[in-house]
Amino acid sequence: MNLTTKLSDLKGVGPKTAENFANARLATAGDLLNFLPRTYDDFSRVEKIADLKPGKVTIKARAESVATRFVRRGMRITTAVLVDENGDKVQAVWFNQPYRETQLKSGQEFYFSGEFGLSRNRYQLTSPAAEAVRELPTTINSARILPIYPKKAGLKPSVTRKILTNLRPLITMLPETLPREIVTDEKLLPRNEAVGEIHFPSDQRKLEKARERLSFEELFGLILAARLNKKENSRLGGFAMNFDLAEFKKVLASLPFALTDAQRKATWEIIQNFTKNQPMNRLLQGDVGSGKTIVAGLAAFVAARNHFQTALMAPTEILASQHAKTLDNLLKPFGINVALLTGSVKGKSREELLKQIANGTAHIVVGTHALFQPTVKFANLGFAIIDEQHRFGVKQRQELVAKSRDEFLPHLLAMTATPIPRSLQLTIFGDLDISILNELPKGRKKIITEIVAPVSRDKMNDKIREELASGRQIYFIAPNIENSEKSDVENVANLYKKVSREFKNVKIGVLHGKMDSESKEKIMRDFANNKTQILVATTVVEVGVDVANASVMVIENADQFGLAQLHQLRGRVGRGNSQSYCFLVQSDSSAPSRRLREIERSNDGFHLAEVDLELRGAGEIYGTSQHGQLNLQIANLADTKMISQASKEADWFIASNQKLTDFRELSAEVNEYQRLTTLN
Ligand code: ADP
Ligand code: MG
Repeated sequence: MNLTTKLSDLKGVGPKTAENFANARLATAGDLLNFLPRTYDDFSRVEKIADLKPGKVTIKARAESVATRFVRRGMRITTAVLVDENGDKVQAVWFNQPYRETQLKSGQEFYFSGEFGLSRNRYQLTSPAAEAVRELPTTINSARILPIYPKKAGLKPSVTRKILTNLRPLITMLPETLPREIVTDEKLLPRNEAVGEIHFPSDQRKLEKARERLSFEELFGLILAARLNKKENSRLGGFAMNFDLAEFKKVLASLPFALTDAQRKATWEIIQNFTKNQPMNRLLQGDVGSGKTIVAGLAAFVAARNHFQTALMAPTEILASQHAKTLDNLLKPFGINVALLTGSVKGKSREELLKQIANGTAHIVVGTHALFQPTVKFANLGFAIIDEQHRFGVKQRQELVAKSRDEFLPHLLAMTATPIPRSLQLTIFGDLDISILNELPKGRKKIITEIVAPVSRDKMNDKIREELASGRQIYFIAPNIENSEKSDVENVANLYKKVSREFKNVKIGVLHGKMDSESKEKIMRDFANNKTQILVATTVVEVGVDVANASVMVIENADQFGLAQLHQLRGRVGRGNSQSYCFLVQSDSSAPSRRLREIERSNDGFHLAEVDLELRGAGEIYGTSQHGQLNLQIANLADTKMISQASKEADWFIASNQKLTDFRELSAEVNEYQRLTTLN
């Protein structure tokens, strides 16, 4: 047995377990040793029964009066009286674990670890782990600081613990992955010692040191990847463009509004990048409604004047066609052709469009995923824009920039309304230049947000009737619940029934993801043109859609949405100058969650992003499309102190010309991070 031994070849790994390991992408012994616990239960202190207090406890005792009874179909209860060496007794119960009876009747002394508490008026131990003191060299599930492993792909933590116990002798063979200097400098545990302690903690202090070492390693790897990306990017050649200020001012003068200072600054930062012969790699962050599209459009104008094509990629057809219209209105008067390429452009018109893209007469091409197709060939792509970048995966971005026919990469602008907390800017997004739109256009009123308990629905509906009467439009959003038996379609249909009962004689449109794109377009167009006054939809309207006359956003079962999503949805209203409302309807009358209270209290996307990071941890923040794959196991991306230490060491690594290839495991990790986090 060694680190590369296949888990499926190990003793004690049956076909079912082998399959679970495979599904969790754990192939070898080494993989499993690097699979880290999510948290721990401290069962290390063995107590006397007489001293037990409610909570997680361990006792050393023998079992008496062991019995199993059927309660009802599918439910068997095993009970026992546990007696310790002082003769004190406590009752224990197990549900549907009939093998306990045989195990406990052996009369041996056991460690029992589990939850001690009041149940039906008596104190008892509920489903404790039991391991015979004599039989075991070390305990696995009791009498220790018990690691709790992620239940990835159906893996049971107890199974993971058992197999890891068999692998324990291999731990000393794990190589050091960090440079020696860093381990010494930062007073870190050697890697093998840290992995030993993380799976088999000897005490809380050692465990803390182990966590620190392994977190540091992840953060260091991430930050180093960002630094290397930045360095590699700065060596790439890019398209240098000219900038004609006088002409640019004419475009500005043609806008129906003045740019905000933030828009002005962001546009300027982009143009600065354009004039250098390095590809831009910039993230434009701006809260919903802050006016990112126009910034992108102005930059695309500069590119077009330099005879470069721009590709603007949007996550939905609705959004793509809206952008195409906005940019066409803005830039057509200046002789710039804006084309729209989506899945629903077919046949002859598609061929014609592809020709225009290939011969360069389409200056700006707005599209959805359709833009990636191999048949789409640009004459001279110099600028790629990705709207709502968190909706796209790494691969898709890479496919888009690869459309450049030159050896150069196009300038890249990724836009997002999901603000990125500062600590993430330093780690995951460390290689990007960032522009921030931190103000909304003048005259916008703060959206009034209210949590609505089911009993207060009538009051909410009264307010909605008022808004309808004054000519405004309303969104109702149904949740799309993953893994539920109810489909989105059904959710929306039910909500539609409810809404049409509540609001008679009002025209209502229905929109969900399963509709074909033509129907979607039509429904959306009807709402935008005020042919329908209420739109009942799933989160398809989440991104970007702009209907200025809509003044109320009702989010049903708001507790089932993520914070970023709620904020995005709310951003669909409040886009004009009159007062708008967002109602967060709770599924039941329980106390509102912190998430809902925060969104009710704050309109500030940056604040909400920090809260989200705190509540969920960074791994999940940007959804699975991008950072799910990062697979950070332990790093706390909000630990600014450790981030700054790890940054310092990453700087040292680069400044002292260390070769990444000298560190085999580190380099594999860092290369993977590089691939996943770079925009290019
Ligand atoms: P987002 O940043 O959410 O993508 P949009 O680009 O869709 O925002 O802009 C939201 C709305 O604000 C659009 O109707 C747009 O025309 C308008 N807008 C953009 N910039 C300004 C401005 N400086 N003053 C007034 N309205 C603006
Ligand atoms: Mg937008």
